[in-house]
Amino acid sequence: MRYYSTRDNTLRITASEAVKMGLSRDGGLLTPEAIPQIDEAFLRSLMDAGYQTRAAKVMALYLTDYSEEELLGFANNAYGPDKFDHPAAAPLRKVDGNTYCLELWHGPTSAFKDMALQMLPQLLSAALRKTGEDKTVCILVATSGDTGKAAMEGFADVPQTKIMVFYPKDGVSAVQEAQMVTQDGENVGVCAVEGNFDDAQAGVKRIFSDEAIRKTLADRGYFLSSANSINWGRILPQVVYYISAYCDLLRDGEIQMGDQVNFCVPTGNFGDILAAYYAKRMGLPVGKLICASNCNDVLTDFLRTGVYDRNRPFHTTMSPSMDILVSSNLERLLFDLSGENDAEVRDYMAALSKDGRYEVSEDIKKALTEQFWGGFCDEAGTSETIARYYKEYGYLIDTHTAVAASVMEQYRQATGDMTLTVFASTASPYKFCDHVLRAVGEPPAGDGVELLDQLHKKTGVTVPRRLAALKGKSRRFDLTAEKAGMDNVVLEFLK
Ligand SMILES: *Cc1c(COP(=O)(O)O)cnc(C)c1O
Repeated sequence: MRYYSTRDNTLRITASEAVKMGLSRDGGLLTPEAIPQIDEAFLRSLMDAGYQTRAAKVMALYLTDYSEEELLGFANNAYGPDKFDHPAAAPLRKVDGNTYCLELWHGPTSAFKDMALQMLPQLLSAALRKTGEDKTVCILVATSGDTGKAAMEGFADVPQTKIMVFYPKDGVSAVQEAQMVTQDGENVGVCAVEGNFDDAQAGVKRIFSDEAIRKTLADRGYFLSSANSINWGRILPQVVYYISAYCDLLRDGEIQMGDQVNFCVPTGNFGDILAAYYAKRMGLPVGKLICASNCNDVLTDFLRTGVYDRNRPFHTTMSPSMDILVSSNLERLLFDLSGENDAEVRDYMAALSKDGRYEVSEDIKKALTEQFWGGFCDEAGTSETIARYYKEYGYLIDTHTAVAASVMEQYRQATGDMTLTVFASTASPYKFCDHVLRAVGEPPAGDGVELLDQLHKKTGVTVPRRLAALKGKSRRFDLTAEKAGMDNVVLEFLK
Protein backbone atom coordinates (compact mmCIF):
# COMPACT_ATOMS: atom_id res chain seq x y z
CA MET A 1 0.00 0.00 0.00
CA ARG A 2 1.35 3.40 -1.04
CA TYR A 3 0.42 6.86 0.18
CA TYR A 4 -0.35 9.96 -1.82
CA SER A 5 -1.11 13.57 -1.02
CA THR A 6 -4.53 15.20 -0.89
CA ARG A 7 -3.00 17.90 -3.08
CA ASP A 8 -1.12 15.59 -5.47
CA ASN A 9 -2.66 12.24 -6.36
CA THR A 10 0.34 11.25 -8.50
CA LEU A 11 2.71 11.09 -5.52
CA ARG A 12 3.50 7.55 -4.29
CA ILE A 13 5.46 6.95 -1.08
CA THR A 14 5.65 4.12 1.43
CA ALA A 15 3.86 4.06 4.78
CA SER A 16 7.14 4.54 6.65
CA GLU A 17 8.00 7.60 4.56
CA ALA A 18 4.51 9.00 5.22
CA VAL A 19 4.90 8.55 8.99
CA LYS A 20 8.39 10.07 8.92
CA MET A 21 7.37 13.16 6.90
CA GLY A 22 4.14 13.90 8.77
CA LEU A 23 2.96 16.36 6.11
CA SER A 24 3.46 16.29 2.34
CA ARG A 25 5.88 18.87 0.88
CA ASP A 26 3.00 20.30 -1.20
CA GLY A 27 1.14 21.16 2.01
CA GLY A 28 -1.35 18.31 1.56
CA LEU A 29 -2.07 15.45 3.93
CA LEU A 30 -0.65 11.98 3.26
CA THR A 31 -3.42 9.47 2.70
CA PRO A 32 -3.59 5.76 1.76
CA GLU A 33 -4.14 5.16 -1.97
CA ALA A 34 -6.89 2.61 -1.25
CA ILE A 35 -9.04 1.80 1.75
CA PRO A 36 -8.65 -1.87 2.73
CA GLN A 37 -11.92 -3.77 3.15
CA ILE A 38 -12.86 -5.94 6.11
CA ASP A 39 -15.60 -8.59 6.19
CA GLU A 40 -17.58 -10.58 8.75
CA ALA A 41 -14.88 -13.24 8.99
CA PHE A 42 -12.34 -10.56 9.89
CA LEU A 43 -14.59 -9.13 12.61
CA ARG A 44 -15.35 -12.61 13.92
CA SER A 45 -11.64 -13.39 14.15
CA LEU A 46 -11.13 -10.30 16.34
CA MET A 47 -14.12 -10.90 18.61
CA ASP A 48 -12.22 -12.82 21.27
CA ALA A 49 -8.87 -11.13 20.72
CA GLY A 50 -7.39 -8.53 23.06
CA TYR A 51 -6.96 -4.89 22.10
CA GLN A 52 -3.30 -5.33 21.17
CA THR A 53 -4.03 -8.06 18.64
CA ARG A 54 -6.92 -6.09 17.19
CA ALA A 55 -4.60 -3.10 16.78
CA ALA A 56 -1.88 -5.11 15.04
CA LYS A 57 -4.35 -6.76 12.64
CA VAL A 58 -6.10 -3.55 11.65
CA MET A 59 -2.92 -1.51 11.29
CA ALA A 60 -1.20 -4.23 9.23
CA LEU A 61 -3.84 -3.69 6.52
CA TYR A 62 -2.50 -0.18 5.97
CA LEU A 63 1.17 -0.39 6.97
CA THR A 64 2.34 -2.94 4.46
CA ASP A 65 6.03 -2.19 4.98
CA TYR A 66 5.70 -3.15 8.66
CA SER A 67 5.12 -6.78 9.64
CA GLU A 68 2.13 -7.82 11.73
CA GLU A 69 4.55 -9.27 14.29
CA GLU A 70 6.38 -5.95 14.52
CA LEU A 71 3.08 -4.11 14.97
CA LEU A 72 1.97 -6.53 17.68
CA GLY A 73 5.19 -5.78 19.57
CA PHE A 74 4.45 -2.06 19.32
CA ALA A 75 0.86 -2.59 20.45
CA ASN A 76 2.04 -4.59 23.47
CA ASN A 77 4.39 -1.75 24.44
CA ALA A 78 1.71 0.88 23.83
CA TYR A 79 -1.36 -0.55 25.53
CA GLY A 80 0.00 -2.85 28.25
CA PRO A 81 -0.65 -2.60 32.01
CA ASP A 82 2.35 -0.35 32.71
CA LYS A 83 0.76 2.27 30.42
CA PHE A 84 -2.99 1.71 30.59
CA ASP A 85 -4.99 1.33 33.80
CA HIS A 86 -7.65 -0.84 32.12
CA PRO A 87 -6.92 -4.27 30.58
CA ALA A 88 -9.22 -3.55 27.62
CA ALA A 89 -7.32 -0.27 26.86
CA ALA A 90 -10.48 1.23 25.30
CA PRO A 91 -13.42 -0.26 27.27
CA LEU A 92 -17.09 0.30 26.48
CA ARG A 93 -19.39 1.37 29.27
CA LYS A 94 -23.11 0.75 28.91
CA VAL A 95 -25.11 3.87 29.75
CA ASP A 96 -28.57 2.56 28.89
CA GLY A 97 -30.21 0.01 26.58
CA ASN A 98 -28.92 1.46 23.34
CA THR A 99 -26.26 3.92 24.47
CA TYR A 100 -22.62 3.11 25.14
CA CYS A 101 -19.64 5.23 26.01
CA LEU A 102 -16.22 4.36 24.59
CA GLU A 103 -13.66 5.36 27.22
CA LEU A 104 -10.48 6.44 25.50
CA TRP A 105 -8.65 8.01 28.44
CA HIS A 106 -7.19 5.08 30.33
CA GLY A 107 -3.66 5.82 29.07
CA PRO A 108 -0.77 7.56 30.84
CA THR A 109 -1.97 11.17 30.30
CA SER A 110 -5.71 10.57 30.78
CA ALA A 111 -6.78 11.84 27.35
CA PHE A 112 -7.61 9.94 24.16
CA LYS A 113 -4.45 11.30 22.51
CA ASP A 114 -2.57 8.45 24.22
CA MET A 115 -4.33 5.89 22.00
CA ALA A 116 -2.30 7.20 19.06
CA LEU A 117 0.67 8.83 20.75
CA GLN A 118 1.75 5.67 22.55
CA MET A 119 1.97 4.10 19.07
CA LEU A 120 3.32 6.90 16.83
CA PRO A 121 6.84 7.11 18.35
CA GLN A 122 7.33 3.40 17.74
CA LEU A 123 6.06 3.68 14.16
CA LEU A 124 8.35 6.65 13.64
CA SER A 125 11.45 4.98 15.13
CA ALA A 126 10.89 1.98 12.89
CA ALA A 127 10.37 4.32 9.93
CA LEU A 128 13.78 5.92 10.57
CA ARG A 129 15.36 2.45 10.43
CA LYS A 130 13.36 1.34 7.39
CA THR A 131 14.29 4.44 5.40
CA GLY A 132 17.96 4.43 6.46
CA GLU A 133 17.62 7.87 8.06
CA ASP A 134 20.71 8.99 10.00
CA LYS A 135 19.47 12.39 11.19
CA THR A 136 17.65 12.91 14.47
CA VAL A 137 13.98 13.83 14.11
CA CYS A 138 12.71 16.78 16.13
CA ILE A 139 8.97 16.76 16.73
CA LEU A 140 7.47 20.24 17.06
CA VAL A 141 4.06 20.42 18.69
CA ALA A 142 1.62 23.26 19.23
CA THR A 143 -0.92 22.12 21.78
CA SER A 144 -4.14 23.32 23.33
CA GLY A 145 -3.36 21.01 26.24
CA ASP A 146 -3.75 17.29 25.64
CA THR A 147 -1.57 16.59 22.59
CA GLY A 148 1.56 18.16 24.09
CA LYS A 149 1.63 16.00 27.18
CA ALA A 150 0.64 12.83 25.35
CA ALA A 151 3.32 13.42 22.69
CA MET A 152 6.05 14.05 25.29
CA GLU A 153 5.03 10.97 27.22
CA GLY A 154 5.22 8.92 24.01
CA PHE A 155 8.54 10.34 22.79
CA ALA A 156 10.39 10.69 26.13
CA ASP A 157 13.83 9.10 25.77
CA VAL A 158 13.03 7.47 22.41
CA PRO A 159 16.42 7.25 20.61
CA GLN A 160 17.04 9.49 17.58
CA THR A 161 14.13 11.76 18.53
CA LYS A 162 13.66 15.08 20.31
CA ILE A 163 10.43 16.86 21.09
CA MET A 164 9.59 20.52 21.72
CA VAL A 165 6.09 21.53 22.84
CA PHE A 166 4.57 25.02 22.72
CA TYR A 167 1.38 25.77 24.64
CA PRO A 168 -0.63 29.00 25.06
CA LYS A 169 0.41 30.57 28.37
CA ASP A 170 -3.06 31.08 29.83
CA GLY A 171 -4.92 28.69 27.57
CA VAL A 172 -4.54 25.30 29.30
CA SER A 173 -6.02 23.89 32.50
CA ALA A 174 -3.94 23.85 35.69
CA VAL A 175 -3.69 20.06 35.60
CA GLN A 176 -2.64 20.12 31.96
CA GLU A 177 0.11 22.66 32.67
CA ALA A 178 1.36 20.68 35.68
CA GLN A 179 1.49 17.55 33.53
CA MET A 180 3.64 19.26 30.91
CA VAL A 181 6.13 21.19 33.05
CA THR A 182 6.93 18.12 35.17
CA GLN A 183 7.60 15.82 32.19
CA ASP A 184 10.59 13.47 32.50
CA GLY A 185 13.01 12.68 29.69
CA GLU A 186 16.34 14.00 28.42
CA ASN A 187 15.04 14.74 24.92
CA VAL A 188 11.97 16.85 25.80
CA GLY A 189 11.41 20.61 25.95
CA VAL A 190 8.36 22.72 26.85
CA CYS A 191 7.70 26.41 26.33
CA ALA A 192 4.71 28.64 27.10
CA VAL A 193 3.82 31.15 24.38
CA GLU A 194 2.46 34.64 25.07
CA GLY A 195 -0.74 34.29 23.06
CA ASN A 196 -3.52 31.85 22.29
CA PHE A 197 -3.44 28.42 20.64
CA ASP A 198 -3.67 29.88 17.13
CA ASP A 199 -0.54 31.96 17.85
CA ALA A 200 1.39 28.88 18.99
CA GLN A 201 0.15 26.92 15.98
CA ALA A 202 1.04 29.69 13.54
CA GLY A 203 4.53 29.92 15.07
CA VAL A 204 5.14 26.20 14.61
CA LYS A 205 3.87 26.30 11.02
CA ARG A 206 6.19 29.24 10.31
CA ILE A 207 9.20 27.31 11.64
CA PHE A 208 8.27 24.29 9.51
CA SER A 209 8.17 26.35 6.35
CA ASP A 210 11.34 28.39 7.05
CA GLU A 211 14.01 27.14 4.64
CA ALA A 212 16.85 28.85 6.51
CA ILE A 213 15.93 27.11 9.77
CA ARG A 214 15.60 23.77 7.97
CA LYS A 215 19.06 24.25 6.49
CA THR A 216 20.66 25.22 9.83
CA LEU A 217 19.05 22.24 11.53
CA ALA A 218 20.07 19.86 8.73
CA ASP A 219 23.69 21.01 9.19
CA ARG A 220 23.35 20.16 12.88
CA GLY A 221 21.95 16.70 12.04
CA TYR A 222 18.22 17.32 12.60
CA PHE A 223 15.03 17.35 10.60
CA LEU A 224 11.54 18.39 11.73
CA SER A 225 8.36 16.35 11.82
CA SER A 226 4.91 16.51 13.36
CA ALA A 227 2.97 14.58 15.98
CA ASN A 228 -0.26 16.46 15.31
CA SER A 229 -3.16 14.59 13.78
CA ILE A 230 -2.10 15.62 10.29
CA ASN A 231 0.36 12.68 10.62
CA TRP A 232 -1.16 9.44 9.28
CA GLY A 233 0.50 7.64 12.19
CA ARG A 234 -1.91 9.53 14.46
CA ILE A 235 -5.10 8.68 12.55
CA LEU A 236 -4.55 4.97 11.95
CA PRO A 237 -4.29 3.85 15.62
CA GLN A 238 -7.61 5.63 16.14
CA VAL A 239 -9.36 3.58 13.46
CA VAL A 240 -8.67 0.54 15.66
CA TYR A 241 -10.91 1.47 18.58
CA TYR A 242 -14.05 1.90 16.49
CA ILE A 243 -13.59 -1.60 15.08
CA SER A 244 -12.70 -2.83 18.57
CA ALA A 245 -15.88 -1.31 20.02
CA TYR A 246 -17.96 -3.13 17.41
CA CYS A 247 -16.19 -6.40 18.27
CA ASP A 248 -16.92 -5.86 21.98
CA LEU A 249 -20.62 -5.31 21.25
CA LEU A 250 -20.68 -8.50 19.18
CA ARG A 251 -18.78 -10.51 21.79
CA ASP A 252 -21.12 -9.38 24.56
CA GLY A 253 -24.22 -10.21 22.51
CA GLU A 254 -25.37 -6.57 22.45
CA ILE A 255 -25.63 -6.64 18.64
CA GLN A 256 -25.75 -9.26 15.90
CA MET A 257 -23.20 -9.40 13.09
CA GLY A 258 -24.15 -6.81 10.48
CA ASP A 259 -26.22 -4.59 12.81
CA GLN A 260 -25.47 -0.93 12.33
CA VAL A 261 -24.21 1.31 15.11
CA ASN A 262 -23.86 5.10 15.18
CA PHE A 263 -20.76 6.84 16.51
CA CYS A 264 -20.84 10.28 18.11
CA VAL A 265 -17.47 12.04 18.48
CA PRO A 266 -16.49 15.32 20.23
CA THR A 267 -14.56 17.06 17.49
CA GLY A 268 -11.84 19.67 17.11
CA ASN A 269 -9.32 18.98 14.38
CA PHE A 270 -11.56 16.30 12.81
CA GLY A 271 -8.99 13.55 13.44
CA ASP A 272 -10.97 11.30 15.76
CA ILE A 273 -14.19 11.37 13.71
CA LEU A 274 -12.20 10.91 10.50
CA ALA A 275 -10.89 7.65 11.96
CA ALA A 276 -14.52 6.57 12.51
CA TYR A 277 -15.24 7.47 8.89
CA TYR A 278 -12.35 5.27 7.70
CA ALA A 279 -13.68 2.40 9.83
CA LYS A 280 -17.02 2.82 8.07
CA ARG A 281 -15.38 3.00 4.65
CA MET A 282 -13.53 -0.25 5.45
CA GLY A 283 -16.90 -1.97 5.71
CA LEU A 284 -17.68 -1.74 9.43
CA PRO A 285 -21.49 -1.54 9.74
CA VAL A 286 -21.81 2.09 10.82
CA GLY A 287 -24.91 4.24 10.39
CA LYS A 288 -24.50 7.93 11.15
CA LEU A 289 -21.33 9.68 12.19
CA ILE A 290 -22.43 12.38 14.61
CA CYS A 291 -20.00 15.27 14.83
CA ALA A 292 -20.21 17.15 18.15
CA SER A 293 -18.79 20.66 18.57
CA ASN A 294 -18.79 23.23 21.37
CA CYS A 295 -19.65 26.93 20.75
CA ASN A 296 -16.98 26.93 18.04
CA ASP A 297 -19.59 25.46 15.72
CA VAL A 298 -17.89 25.87 12.35
CA LEU A 299 -18.29 22.13 11.61
CA THR A 300 -21.99 22.10 12.54
CA ASP A 301 -22.65 24.77 9.96
CA PHE A 302 -20.44 23.06 7.41
CA LEU A 303 -22.17 19.69 7.72
CA ARG A 304 -25.58 21.37 7.44
CA THR A 305 -24.87 23.77 4.57
CA GLY A 306 -21.71 22.65 2.77
CA VAL A 307 -20.16 26.07 3.46
CA TYR A 308 -17.03 26.14 5.59
CA ASP A 309 -16.58 29.62 7.01
CA ARG A 310 -13.98 30.33 9.65
CA ASN A 311 -14.81 34.06 9.73
CA ARG A 312 -16.48 34.07 13.13
CA PRO A 313 -15.51 34.83 16.72
CA PHE A 314 -13.21 32.37 18.49
CA HIS A 315 -14.70 31.20 21.80
CA THR A 316 -12.61 30.00 24.73
CA THR A 317 -14.67 27.25 26.33
CA MET A 318 -14.50 24.66 29.11
CA SER A 319 -13.74 22.03 26.43
CA PRO A 320 -10.52 23.68 25.19
CA SER A 321 -9.32 20.78 23.04
CA MET A 322 -12.21 21.55 20.71
CA ASP A 323 -11.62 25.30 20.53
CA ILE A 324 -10.56 25.35 16.92
CA LEU A 325 -11.79 27.04 13.78
CA VAL A 326 -9.67 25.30 11.16
CA SER A 327 -10.10 21.52 11.28
CA SER A 328 -7.09 20.25 9.32
CA ASN A 329 -8.25 16.69 8.81
CA LEU A 330 -11.37 17.73 6.94
CA GLU A 331 -9.04 17.86 3.94
CA ARG A 332 -8.70 14.06 3.96
CA LEU A 333 -12.50 13.69 3.99
CA LEU A 334 -12.92 16.12 1.09
CA PHE A 335 -10.27 14.25 -0.88
CA ASP A 336 -12.11 10.97 -0.39
CA LEU A 337 -15.60 12.36 -1.05
CA SER A 338 -14.44 14.13 -4.21
CA GLY A 339 -13.18 10.83 -5.68
CA GLU A 340 -9.53 11.69 -4.92
CA ASN A 341 -9.79 14.89 -6.93
CA ASP A 342 -6.63 16.74 -5.88
CA ALA A 343 -7.40 19.79 -8.03
CA GLU A 344 -10.77 20.24 -6.32
CA VAL A 345 -9.14 19.94 -2.88
CA ARG A 346 -6.45 22.47 -3.83
CA ASP A 347 -9.19 24.94 -4.83
CA TYR A 348 -11.02 24.55 -1.51
CA MET A 349 -7.81 24.96 0.49
CA ALA A 350 -6.71 27.99 -1.56
CA ALA A 351 -10.10 29.63 -0.91
CA LEU A 352 -9.79 28.80 2.79
CA SER A 353 -6.42 30.46 3.12
CA LYS A 354 -7.43 33.46 0.97
CA ASP A 355 -10.99 34.17 2.17
CA GLY A 356 -11.32 31.86 5.16
CA ARG A 357 -14.26 30.24 3.40
CA TYR A 358 -15.23 27.67 0.74
CA GLU A 359 -18.34 25.89 -0.48
CA VAL A 360 -18.19 22.25 -1.53
CA SER A 361 -19.80 20.73 -4.65
CA GLU A 362 -23.38 19.40 -4.70
CA ASP A 363 -22.05 15.83 -4.78
CA ILE A 364 -20.02 16.34 -1.64
CA LYS A 365 -22.94 18.08 0.10
CA LYS A 366 -25.12 15.07 -0.62
CA ALA A 367 -22.52 12.63 0.73
CA LEU A 368 -22.04 14.76 3.84
CA THR A 369 -25.72 14.75 4.75
CA GLU A 370 -26.02 11.03 4.10
CA GLN A 371 -23.12 10.07 6.33
CA PHE A 372 -22.81 12.80 8.96
CA TRP A 373 -24.93 14.82 11.32
CA GLY A 374 -23.48 17.90 13.01
CA GLY A 375 -24.55 19.60 16.23
CA PHE A 376 -23.10 21.74 19.00
CA CYS A 377 -23.50 22.20 22.73
CA ASP A 378 -22.94 25.50 24.53
CA GLU A 379 -21.35 26.06 27.95
CA ALA A 380 -24.57 25.84 29.97
CA GLY A 381 -25.54 22.66 28.11
CA THR A 382 -22.14 21.14 28.86
CA SER A 383 -22.47 21.73 32.61
CA GLU A 384 -26.07 20.55 32.62
CA THR A 385 -25.09 17.31 30.84
CA ILE A 386 -22.27 16.58 33.31
CA ALA A 387 -24.69 17.10 36.21
CA ARG A 388 -27.39 14.94 34.63
CA TYR A 389 -25.09 12.02 33.77
CA TYR A 390 -23.72 12.08 37.29
CA LYS A 391 -27.15 12.14 38.86
CA GLU A 392 -29.01 9.76 36.55
CA TYR A 393 -26.33 7.22 35.71
CA GLY A 394 -23.75 7.76 38.47
CA TYR A 395 -21.33 8.45 35.64
CA LEU A 396 -18.82 11.29 35.95
CA ILE A 397 -17.81 12.58 32.50
CA ASP A 398 -15.49 15.37 31.41
CA THR A 399 -16.47 18.53 29.53
CA HIS A 400 -15.59 17.21 26.04
CA THR A 401 -17.47 13.96 26.61
CA ALA A 402 -20.47 15.96 27.83
CA VAL A 403 -20.56 17.85 24.53
CA ALA A 404 -20.75 14.51 22.72
CA ALA A 405 -23.46 13.16 25.02
CA SER A 406 -25.58 16.27 24.54
CA VAL A 407 -25.24 16.33 20.76
CA MET A 408 -26.09 12.63 20.59
CA GLU A 409 -29.33 13.39 22.45
CA GLN A 410 -30.06 16.32 20.13
CA TYR A 411 -29.58 14.00 17.15
CA ARG A 412 -32.03 11.46 18.53
CA GLN A 413 -34.60 14.18 19.23
CA ALA A 414 -34.23 15.75 15.81
CA THR A 415 -34.31 12.54 13.77
CA GLY A 416 -36.04 9.90 15.89
CA ASP A 417 -33.18 7.53 14.98
CA MET A 418 -32.71 5.30 18.03
CA THR A 419 -30.01 3.06 16.53
CA LEU A 420 -27.52 1.83 19.12
CA THR A 421 -25.04 4.66 19.54
CA VAL A 422 -21.52 4.75 20.93
CA PHE A 423 -20.25 8.16 22.00
CA ALA A 424 -16.56 8.73 22.55
CA SER A 425 -15.25 9.81 25.95
CA THR A 426 -12.02 11.63 25.22
CA ALA A 427 -10.68 12.75 28.60
CA SER A 428 -10.82 11.89 32.28
CA PRO A 429 -12.98 14.32 34.28
CA TYR A 430 -9.93 14.86 36.49
CA LYS A 431 -8.21 16.85 33.74
CA PHE A 432 -10.88 19.56 34.06
CA CYS A 433 -11.61 19.48 37.79
CA ASP A 434 -12.80 23.06 38.21
CA HIS A 435 -15.55 22.88 35.58
CA VAL A 436 -16.60 19.38 36.59
CA LEU A 437 -16.79 20.36 40.28
CA ARG A 438 -18.96 23.38 39.50
CA ALA A 439 -21.20 21.24 37.30
CA VAL A 440 -21.85 18.74 40.09
CA GLY A 441 -22.70 21.59 42.46
CA GLU A 442 -19.45 22.07 44.36
CA PRO A 443 -17.55 25.38 44.16
CA PRO A 444 -13.85 24.65 43.56
CA ALA A 445 -11.77 25.40 46.68
CA GLY A 446 -8.24 26.28 45.59
CA ASP A 447 -6.76 25.60 42.21
CA GLY A 448 -4.40 23.36 40.30
CA VAL A 449 -3.81 19.82 41.44
CA GLU A 450 -5.44 20.43 44.86
CA LEU A 451 -8.78 20.07 43.13
CA LEU A 452 -8.08 16.40 42.35
CA ASP A 453 -8.70 15.62 46.02
CA GLN A 454 -11.79 17.76 46.21
CA LEU A 455 -13.37 16.07 43.20
CA HIS A 456 -12.45 12.66 44.61
CA LYS A 457 -14.01 13.51 48.01
CA LYS A 458 -17.18 14.71 46.34
CA THR A 459 -17.65 11.79 43.92
CA GLY A 460 -15.56 8.86 45.16
CA VAL A 461 -14.35 8.27 41.59
CA THR A 462 -10.74 7.00 41.51
CA VAL A 463 -8.12 9.60 40.54
CA PRO A 464 -5.96 8.25 37.66
CA ARG A 465 -2.67 7.29 39.30
CA ARG A 466 -0.44 9.45 37.10
CA LEU A 467 -2.55 12.52 37.85
CA ALA A 468 -2.47 11.78 41.57
CA ALA A 469 1.34 11.51 41.34
CA LEU A 470 1.59 15.09 39.98
CA LYS A 471 1.31 16.45 43.50
CA GLY A 472 4.74 15.12 44.40
CA LYS A 473 6.51 16.17 41.20
CA SER A 474 8.68 19.25 40.87
CA ARG A 475 8.61 21.63 37.98
CA ARG A 476 11.36 21.02 35.39
CA PHE A 477 10.52 23.69 32.81
CA ASP A 478 9.84 27.38 33.19
CA LEU A 479 10.36 28.85 29.75
CA THR A 480 8.13 31.52 28.20
CA ALA A 481 8.53 33.07 24.76
CA GLU A 482 6.94 35.79 22.69
CA LYS A 483 5.39 34.51 19.50
CA ALA A 484 8.30 35.90 17.50
CA GLY A 485 10.83 34.25 19.79
CA MET A 486 9.73 30.68 19.09
CA ASP A 487 12.37 30.21 16.36
CA ASN A 488 15.12 30.94 18.85
CA VAL A 489 13.68 28.54 21.38
CA VAL A 490 13.91 25.78 18.77
CA LEU A 491 17.42 26.77 17.68
CA GLU A 492 18.61 26.80 21.32
CA PHE A 493 16.93 23.46 22.00
CA LEU A 494 18.69 21.84 19.03
CA LYS A 495 22.16 23.35 19.65
C1 LIG B 1 -8.03 16.45 20.91
C2 LIG B 1 -9.26 16.28 21.69
C3 LIG B 1 -10.54 16.30 21.07
C4 LIG B 1 -10.72 16.57 19.60
O1 LIG B 1 -10.21 15.56 18.77
P1 LIG B 1 -9.92 15.86 17.23
O2 LIG B 1 -9.25 14.62 16.72
O3 LIG B 1 -8.99 17.03 17.21
O4 LIG B 1 -11.20 16.15 16.56
C5 LIG B 1 -11.65 16.06 21.86
N1 LIG B 1 -11.54 15.87 23.19
C6 LIG B 1 -10.34 15.86 23.81
C7 LIG B 1 -10.30 15.66 25.29
C8 LIG B 1 -9.17 16.05 23.10
O5 LIG B 1 -7.98 16.05 23.73
